[in-house]
Amino acid sequence: MFIGHFAVGFALKKTEPRLPLGIWLVAAMFLDILWPVFLLLGIEKVAIVPGITRVMPLDLINLDWSHSLAMAVLWAILFGAVVFAFVRSRNAFIFGALAVLSHWLLDYATHRADMPLAPHSARYGLELWNSLAGTLIVELGLFFLSVFIYTRGVTAHGKRGWLALVLFVVFWVVMYMMSVFGPPPPNNPTVIAISSLVLIPIVMPWANWVDGKIH
Ligand SMILES: [Zn+2]
Repeated sequence: MFIGHFAVGFALKKTEPRLPLGIWLVAAMFLDILWPVFLLLGIEKVAIVPGITRVMPLDLINLDWSHSLAMAVLWAILFGAVVFAFVRSRNAFIFGALAVLSHWLLDYATHRADMPLAPHSARYGLELWNSLAGTLIVELGLFFLSVFIYTRGVTAHGKRGWLALVLFVVFWVVMYMMSVFGPPPPNNPTVIAISSLVLIPIVMPWANWVDGKIH
């Protein structure tokens, strides 16, 4: 899943408004930030196999350390502890950790049976990626619903605030559509890892800037 994870960040932002939107998005994507790092380290393995699911050509051969449920719980607690250290708020810890953990559930719903419960354990997945319509409806639906939740009750600083948000939303919907309908990435873990890692320094400051214009 891609912008479906963003949805969790947008939806939870109000639970601790002192944490900027970019941090909420990083929380929701945290396992996918670890994943390319572990790919580069050679700890986890992926191959591009066109047709392996209807939507995504990813054969996730090993996801044990970034994406197993047991590790996700650990990453969630660590993430919650770090944001708690910054803002000293119980909500930051609880919802920060839940945002990280939500990633496992959403990936479990979308992936093939490649989501482990623990390293080297059995793997599960509900395979939403085998339905193009289902994937688009669920992921875009979650994303737009969460942006609506995020904007409820806030007053943007004039038209520029709303424009900043609309541009952010449109950009990531286009990126998402390209990931679904574009050509498969090269079957090279280093290229896959680097192309997903470069998104983070774009997403976080940009989301924080938009957040500053909206709240
Ligand atoms: Zn993931």
